[in-house]
Amino acid sequence: MTRVLILGGTTEASALAATLASNGIAATLSYAGRVSAPRSQPVPIRIGGFGGAAGLVRYMVESGTTHLVDATHPFAATISANAVAAAEASGIPLIALTRKPWQPAPEDRWHPVPDLAAAVADLAGPPRRVMLALGRMHVEAFAAQPQHHYLLRFVDVPDRPPGLPDHHLVVDRGPFTPEGDRDLLRNHRIDLVVCKNAGGAGASAKLTAARELGIAVTMIDRPPLPPRREVESVEAVLDWLGHSAHRGV
Ligand code: NAP
Repeated sequence: MTRVLILGGTTEASALAATLASNGIAATLSYAGRVSAPRSQPVPIRIGGFGGAAGLVRYMVESGTTHLVDATHPFAATISANAVAAAEASGIPLIALTRKPWQPAPEDRWHPVPDLAAAVADLAGPPRRVMLALGRMHVEAFAAQPQHHYLLRFVDVPDRPPGLPDHHLVVDRGPFTPEGDRDLLRNHRIDLVVCKNAGGAGASAKLTAARELGIAVTMIDRPPLPPRREVESVEAVLDWLGHSAHRGV
């Protein structure tokens, strides 16, 4: 019997879980546990790290997992590398459900940087009004550039206040719209957006808003990942499940 483990934490993972449930395919959705109350799901969920690639192999063997789908965020590089290693070690087939990176439109004012450290270094200079659209895990690094006013948007109220001397925090899970983000950027007089090239529709509203307002964007490129099979739609995962269930690949 097919039993799918979905590594989640994204809208794509939730969409896949819903489709598998409606097709009667057994699946478990795994979260790292970064969000305090994940949305309810139509499949069982488990929460917390596995303990590296070896722990992931152990979990999959013990739970009778037949297929592994990595539907984590494109910047979740550690779990994605672990998924590749665990699939190789266990022989359990792996597919990644991912999204294409965003590409700039001609009128966009993007400055690409290779990683978070480069985005921080890029902010050297006089004070600006910066939206950090990064999630709470990464904002502390910007304490190295304390001269700026930072607009932060988190999914949850943080346990302790962010360590940035001049900031404004908005707590909002979305969904976000270009109109809403345009008002946000305008009301806070933002002149720079810093974000990761996540891709997908869910987080692109801020880019549309920045384009409309002529605001510059520091775009952090994706981290490198080991080679793996990738698809960009839930339907393609369903096809793969049917195919690999019959052929055992
Ligand atoms: P990461 O650096 O790749 O992972 C760090 C550790 O967290 C992993 O080694 C693993 O622990 C555990 N982990 C990560 N995802 C897991 C999952 N789905 N189920 C169980 N354990 C998981 O990942 P991250 O960047 O901290 O992101 C954590 C989660 O948030 C991911 O699931 C991702 O989809 C979601 N997310 C991330 C971002 C982002 O920008 N990075 C944005 C939106 C959502 P063990 O080694 O102990 O197994």
